[in-house]
Amino acid sequence: MTPSGAAIHNALRAPIAGASVPDMAPKTVDQQDIWKDLGRSLRQVLSVALAASALSCIDFSSAHAQASLRGSRSAMRKENSKADRENLSRIKDGMQLRQFVRSGRLVPIPEHRHIAVDHRVRHSRRYVRPWTAQFLKDLAADFSKEFGGARIRVTSAVRPQADQRRLCRRNANAAAPDGPLASSHSTGATVDIGYKKMSATQRAWTDRYLLRLEHQGLLQVTKEQVQACYHVMVFRNYSKLSAPARHGAR
Ligand SMILES: [Zn+2]
Repeated sequence: MTPSGAAIHNALRAPIAGASVPDMAPKTVDQQDIWKDLGRSLRQVLSVALAASALSCIDFSSAHAQASLRGSRSAMRKENSKADRENLSRIKDGMQLRQFVRSGRLVPIPEHRHIAVDHRVRHSRRYVRPWTAQFLKDLAADFSKEFGGARIRVTSAVRPQADQRRLCRRNANAAAPDGPLASSHSTGATVDIGYKKMSATQRAWTDRYLLRLEHQGLLQVTKEQVQACYHVMVFRNYSKLSAPARHGAR
């Protein structure tokens, strides 16, 4: 039984359990618990129903939704303030990156038959935060199921500040290595997923998939035009979702 199914079941069952109790009789501790449980169950049912109806009302392919995919300075500021709130270190260089791998704060991009990693991503940079790895696995599973075994392509993962500094020297459009507009790739929570090889249908599906998760407060996405990728910062609370909720969140 799903959690919402259990909540509905409890909500339906509880009044019957209390039906033989006269209205005015003082309630025992057990009875008070039943009424408390009923209240909690009803709140759960209502919140699940409200969340579902709110999401079903949103048109994720609308012009407004497409506008929210565009990058902006405020989106970058949001990523940085989120990183601060989540207490995420900005990884300085390759040496610190290796320390993070040893302590388990960074994990490899999952070995998954539906995840391809672009050959330009160095092996020493194929790491992300654990919740970002979970997100990649979920996206790859859902994408391949939808499109007959097609794979997603990761074009960038963790990028220490030293790498970002070098990138800035070569590319005037690259984000700063530090400060309020810094690239969030140095946290390890952010990945780029290339869309150059995706069909129009696959892009539209991925737009909707990512916007829905963004709307649920689980990540922030920007569709980068020059690099032809989805730049996705996955938030720590993504890992708290149950498997059915993650896969239901399309
Ligand atoms: Zn990026």
